[in-house]
Amino acid sequence: MENEKWLLGIDIGGTSVKLAFLTEEGDILHKWEIPTNTENNGSNIIQDIGEAVHKKLSELDVSHDMLKAAGVGAPGPIDQEKGVMFEAVNLGWPDNFPLRDLMQEAVGVPVAIENDANSAALGEMWKGAGEGAKDLIAITLGTGVGGGVIVNGDIVHGAKGAAGEVGHITAVPHGGYMCNCGKAGCLETVASATGIVRTAKELLADYEGDSQLKALLDSNGDITAKDIFDAAQAGDQLALSTVDSLADHLGLALANIGSLFNPERIVIGGGVSKAGDFLVGKIEQYFKKYAFKPVGESTEIVLAQLGNDAGIAGAAWLAANKN
Ligand SMILES: [Zn+2]
Repeated sequence: MENEKWLLGIDIGGTSVKLAFLTEEGDILHKWEIPTNTENNGSNIIQDIGEAVHKKLSELDVSHDMLKAAGVGAPGPIDQEKGVMFEAVNLGWPDNFPLRDLMQEAVGVPVAIENDANSAALGEMWKGAGEGAKDLIAITLGTGVGGGVIVNGDIVHGAKGAAGEVGHITAVPHGGYMCNCGKAGCLETVASATGIVRTAKELLADYEGDSQLKALLDSNGDITAKDIFDAAQAGDQLALSTVDSLADHLGLALANIGSLFNPERIVIGGGVSKAGDFLVGKIEQYFKKYAFKPVGESTEIVLAQLGNDAGIAGAAWLAANKN
């Protein structure tokens, strides 16, 4: 199309920055990555991104006029209206960092900003598992647990940008493990990859029976979340108990969130979600047990589809809709 311009999607992570040029419909045209330089309080990150964008345009022999707008996902709570990040501990930026204005200067087009987990949720809504849904909860099960709440087609931010932090819902009110956020018993402590491994090891400590996981732990010195799901799918009782414990905690938290919002879909992503339909089936079982009945019947639990591209797709949605 002659008048078609490009959107710039930027997903800033603690180790790398993912960048992409996308069509106005959100289809990725060119995608690349640069390392995140967190030295000197991350003071080079924005300049690096600006240079990478200009360099890529000249490599492609495309004029800067082709760019319509940009969106940025970054790790920390933000104020979208003011264009400010309240804090960005992983990147080293000072508090109340004026991300939007600085990025606008670096890339030369209007910029909209969002928290990275929220950006991934928007990406799934636009181009992934949520396509067509306007009420959606996204949850990412990785080394931590992230989330985003979308109501009527937009992210819920709350008073200080901290809404939708599904991972820090209290799942174990008494005697839970400490979370990185400084509170104990967060969902993240039992539903992240780290949390699942810890649960399995705890169950193993008092287990009299045979388990594949016991053998793996003895021979490899450690086990992974993938080992646990593989063993559970092969019928290993201890692994099944571990997955049940995870699904019970997740099912409860999602049922409570679901009862509040009755989303069309709850999208499960992140490394742990590679366990696929087996995991979704288990979560669904507990979700239906705990959810308000009409919610249990109408809210669908599905797997995320975009993987690592969710963040840049969401950033492009911001570019198209928030500028
Ligand atoms: Zn926490």
